[in-house]
Amino acid sequence: MRIYNTLTKRVEEFKPNVEGKVAMYTCGPTVYHFAHIGNLRSYICEDVLEKTLRYIGYDVKRVMNITDVGHLSSDADTGEDKMLKGAKREHKTVMEIAKFYTDAFMSDCGKLNIKTPDVVEPATNCIDEFIHMIEVLLEKGYAYQAGENIYFDTSKLKEYYVFGNQSEEELMVGVRDDVTEDTNKRNKNDFVLWFTKSKFEDQALKWDSPWGVGYPGWHIECSCISMKHLGEYMDIHCGGVDNMFPHHTNEIAQSESYTGHKWCNYWFHVHHLNDREGKMSKSKGNILTVSVLQKKGYDPLVYRLFCLNSHYRKPLEFSFDALDNTNAAYQKLLKRCADIKKAAEGKTDVDEAVVTEFNNRFIDAIGNDTNTSMALTVLYDVLKADTTEATKVKLIGMFDYVLSLDLLKDREEEKPAVDADLAAYVEEQIALRKAAKKEKNFAEADRIRNELLEKGIVLKDTREGTTWEKA
Ligand code: AMP
Ligand code: ZN
Repeated sequence: MRIYNTLTKRVEEFKPNVEGKVAMYTCGPTVYHFAHIGNLRSYICEDVLEKTLRYIGYDVKRVMNITDVGHLSSDADTGEDKMLKGAKREHKTVMEIAKFYTDAFMSDCGKLNIKTPDVVEPATNCIDEFIHMIEVLLEKGYAYQAGENIYFDTSKLKEYYVFGNQSEEELMVGVRDDVTEDTNKRNKNDFVLWFTKSKFEDQALKWDSPWGVGYPGWHIECSCISMKHLGEYMDIHCGGVDNMFPHHTNEIAQSESYTGHKWCNYWFHVHHLNDREGKMSKSKGNILTVSVLQKKGYDPLVYRLFCLNSHYRKPLEFSFDALDNTNAAYQKLLKRCADIKKAAEGKTDVDEAVVTEFNNRFIDAIGNDTNTSMALTVLYDVLKADTTEATKVKLIGMFDYVLSLDLLKDREEEKPAVDADLAAYVEEQIALRKAAKKEKNFAEADRIRNELLEKGIVLKDTREGTTWEKA
């Protein structure tokens, strides 16, 4: 297996710390809103990586956090807590918001055939671990208290910018015009480990700590949650490229200062899904979700194939035209697989030599920094190969473990009830409309209402909230 490592900026031969075993960590979602299909690109590519490692024979343990506290609007420790913002927008408690959007995220992952990691841990479960790590960082002199918050002192490190290739703009994160500079920081990129004093006195979730009642910073959760489940040595850490700085840079600073040794050997970063306006992002509003795609008539797996067609280290531009092309290709692919499966019914004449030959080609492709488009080419070569149908069915089934496109599934019987999909979609649109109204984006709220109306759904705003019915 060869993987591009952001730390060394090279494609490297993958060697885990313990032979045959892989300790893998993924930064999970911040659950204050629905995941958009950009977020899900990252999770699809990470799913392919995990399944490739398993396919090759590694015993993988994968851990993911759920960010339900501490992620502020600006990555430079300023702005409102995103969870609190979500709770206010929807007149719910932070924990209600966290549960609702965690469930929505898991459901979206299910629709995209993304395997649930072995451990999924919400940040609010691990406050004691955070406090312990911060205490050790203070003892070792890597942290300081100022203005009642606890900060990590980046000047104590030999090398802070471990990824080394941040743009000037990214490095200025602490001093952007639109964020208030925190004068308690000794160095511009110092970051908060624990907040006790913040300008947001209405922070909903607070815990007792040796430094007073407060709440953790965003970065500490990934260092602690990964160590809780994977120990002090990790093989591979994943996330979107926007997480490289400051989030992953700060995770490394904390973890290596705490343990006193190198923490994680390989860093896997997925590039962004962009739309015409640039990076798709939750804060921009009008985000595309899996339910929206479904409502427009796309099987979610069309989007999975759309992602697999390109390499995770290249930005991917989303458009409905491109998705339509992928949809056409997917339907054709399913039909060919179904025909082969039918022709192979009752036959057992698998040519194992051919299986080995194509499987080796598949592993060469997918094991080469998860080259998914090349792996798909091998699949297409199988479909047209001069071999028995039973051999093809076996190979399609094997490759589909990694590709996860349901290539051999009997689809007619398994179609979900249209009404359940419709209800989920409408509820999601109602939530997005409410969010738009809260942000005084009435044009967007009206657009959502009208779009639903065109689909025969009438919204009624009542004191208790918005209800809907079919016209
Ligand atoms: P968040 O829920 O904002 O914490 O993000 C969840 C994951 O999605 C992180 O790994 C981000 O780096 C990633 N991400 C955010 N925006 C995009 C995008 N437009 N394309 C791909 N990945 C993204
Ligand atoms: Zn993280």
